[in-house]
Amino acid sequence: MPRKTKLTVTLGPATESEEMIGKLIDLGVNVFRLNMSHAKHEWASEMSKRIRRQSDQRGIHIPVLFDLTGPSIRTGTLDQPYDLKEGDIVEFREENTAPQLPISTTVNYPGLMADVKEGNTLVVDNGVLLMRIDKVEKDRVHCYVKTPGVMGSRRHINLPGVRLNLPALTEKDHKDLALAVSCKADYIAGSFVRDSSHVRELREAMEALEGEAQIVAKIEDQEAVKNIDAIIHAADVIMVARGDLGVEVDFEELPILQRRIVKRCHELGTRVIVATQMLESMISNPTPTRAEVTDVSNAAYEEADSLMLSGETSVGRYPERCVEAMVRISSRIERSGGLGYGQNVLLRDERQKVARAAVTLADSLPDGRLVVLTRRGVLANHVALLRPKTAHFYAFTPKPVVCRQLSLTRGITAFQISFAVNIEETIMAVTEHLKELGLVRPGTPMVIVSDILSNHFAANSILLHHA
Ligand code: PEP
Repeated sequence: MPRKTKLTVTLGPATESEEMIGKLIDLGVNVFRLNMSHAKHEWASEMSKRIRRQSDQRGIHIPVLFDLTGPSIRTGTLDQPYDLKEGDIVEFREENTAPQLPISTTVNYPGLMADVKEGNTLVVDNGVLLMRIDKVEKDRVHCYVKTPGVMGSRRHINLPGVRLNLPALTEKDHKDLALAVSCKADYIAGSFVRDSSHVRELREAMEALEGEAQIVAKIEDQEAVKNIDAIIHAADVIMVARGDLGVEVDFEELPILQRRIVKRCHELGTRVIVATQMLESMISNPTPTRAEVTDVSNAAYEEADSLMLSGETSVGRYPERCVEAMVRISSRIERSGGLGYGQNVLLRDERQKVARAAVTLADSLPDGRLVVLTRRGVLANHVALLRPKTAHFYAFTPKPVVCRQLSLTRGITAFQISFAVNIEETIMAVTEHLKELGLVRPGTPMVIVSDILSNHFAANSILLHHA
């Protein structure tokens, strides 16, 4: 049975060889992510070529996702790391100012002093160091160290619950975006998206460069959670970026937020990726912890479109085993059913209602196949969102980029085909294609849903056809 839960994998030093990319595709990777926080341009462009070559050799469609760094706040460069004790006072000051305290570093965001107030929490290095802001001045803040630890250079700073006036895209993001477009990226992810205007700004910048990528909005802080509906409407895909989100909220809130965001994505009709620390211990161990198995299983049970690996495959010792573990865990839970949020989808237009009817029909036919003919992938995504029970769910589209983008969507296997002028001919070609691949036998019932032009009419149609 084809697996429904798709797998997004981050490339890095552990997986950059062309041979390894091919192996990962064979093991079941559906999307490759390039993390621009670490990737050099030459490397990212070479990886895109290797991914294309390896997927072309196999005749399958694998998308490349460029993940932009976004406007992250970082500490300055230090000669020596500070070994901080509880009760120490640390100064964070604007660049090009003189230190006033013995423990002092710069921050790369001059707006910080205006955004924060006394009593706010400041977190350094993804939760390693917790501090309380005790004093705010025009060009610096003083923080009381609550948890001891080492503070090094260029460490990431989070300010939970603070509304930050950071821009949507930095200068580096614009350069990385231009590279992504020149590499024909299929997806571009915006980091620290805080409201829908940030998603629109990224899309407009991408379109101005004539890119065809779809936009992933990474939900990483409380502001984004507050504006989640508008962000879901504006983006093509949502990523529950649990790394930063887990620092920005109390950790016990994280599973609740994950479930709420996945549910809301279903209701409003946008795809969703659950990301980060799914198999973290496998960065150095060959098998997952019981808790990780349960976490992966829960996200697949929630029927997210895709689950994502980061350090596990970019720098970990066991990237292939990680992919195998994800495939085993998600395939197993799929056999026991899912949470059923597909029942809650708000059907806003006739096309979505047609999609619902097609899914109901296909699910009522033992051994039925569900086939979507789609030009831009929109109808295919509508159908997928209803979470059809059949594992035989195929999309046919003329555009290779749409084929690749659909590789992220739960349950879909996409094929490229040219549409004939007349829909009957297209259906014949689709049937032949599936027969050749052994995916249908003579007489197999196929529910075909389409909104393609037939004899110059754009018609939503459902057809029950026997192969
Ligand atoms: C995250 O924070 O979970 C995430 C995916 O973002 P990044 O790894 O780019 O920080």
